[in-house]
Amino acid sequence: MSAVYVHIPFCRTICPYCDFVRVRDRGAPVDAFVDALRREIAWASPEDAPLRSVFFGGGTPSLLDEAQLGEILDALDRRFGLSTAVEVTLEANPDDVTAEKAWTWRRLGVNRVSLGVQSFDDAALRYLGRRHGADGARRACEAIRDAFANWSMDLIYGARPVGAWTATLEECVRFDPPHVSAYGLTYEAGTSFERRRGEAIEDDDSLALYREPRAALGAWKHYEISNFARPGRESVHNLVYWRNEAYHGFGTGAYSFLHGVRARNTTDLHAYLAHPGAKCESLGLTLREVRLETVIQHMRLADGLTHAAYRRRFGRALRDDFGPALDALAARGLLSDDGVCVRPTAAGFELNNEIGLALIG
Ligand code: SF4
Repeated sequence: MSAVYVHIPFCRTICPYCDFVRVRDRGAPVDAFVDALRREIAWASPEDAPLRSVFFGGGTPSLLDEAQLGEILDALDRRFGLSTAVEVTLEANPDDVTAEKAWTWRRLGVNRVSLGVQSFDDAALRYLGRRHGADGARRACEAIRDAFANWSMDLIYGARPVGAWTATLEECVRFDPPHVSAYGLTYEAGTSFERRRGEAIEDDDSLALYREPRAALGAWKHYEISNFARPGRESVHNLVYWRNEAYHGFGTGAYSFLHGVRARNTTDLHAYLAHPGAKCESLGLTLREVRLETVIQHMRLADGLTHAAYRRRFGRALRDDFGPALDALAARGLLSDDGVCVRPTAAGFELNNEIGLALIG
């Protein structure tokens, strides 16, 4: 499988916790950016592996108008061929969603929406500096649910008031989205929240919040550390990342992983407009590094990695490459290995960094 990521960096307002590549949209050269994207896409060399996913992330892709989104999709279709088997996801801000827009996205070829609800609590949304309120989130969920069989509700825990998380999860269950992402709030360097790090909740409290969706979303499969899905509704796009397969990245700051090279587009909007696809980072991985990253990434997934899949991909035995580290992790209760498949345990989900560190050795 292979995938395409398209980064749309424009946002109407800047959320204080956000460390993504983004700029205010007021007066921004959105048409020129779309033009640059079309050029970058036209120069790309498609992978041999079949394209299974296109993901519009940001920033705020739902700010694009119909003509702009249509032009990008046309460019992708010309270069990659967008068959009906391709999952086409658009990240949307609840404030941008109307029934009419949702149906327009569908008509253009979007078949999955990742909706940034974050919370159904007004105070928590204010704390996060979001431009929508709880009622706006509810209206957006209804419009998306009417237009799309496949969509994700994206949530954040750890915002104050911390206790609002339980009611948000209850409301999430009532909307019954096919997919749910639940990430903890972070106070990253370089964001407005950096100087508010003292407000971050303790690790034990964060762990308790992390465990809540596991109980509340019992009817969904907890298929990745922070992601839950109904059968067949796992994110195809993120599975490409978590299986360490090839992906193109278009737009400012977008990462790509092609032929063992991980590269990143320039994060500077004006540099990008002048030279679409210009890289600010590029790192060729050794085969050993690709094998290591592949195992680490698979250990984010409940289904783990089968010994047969590793041998098919690399022509070597998983145990020959990582046997002692896998045994040590199994002894600590972070992994299980039944001889067919190595997979993380519930403790391995919670202490996932430990798995990576042990595999790196
Ligand atoms: S969180 Fe999303 S909407 Fe908010 S500034 Fe970041 S990219 Fe923009």
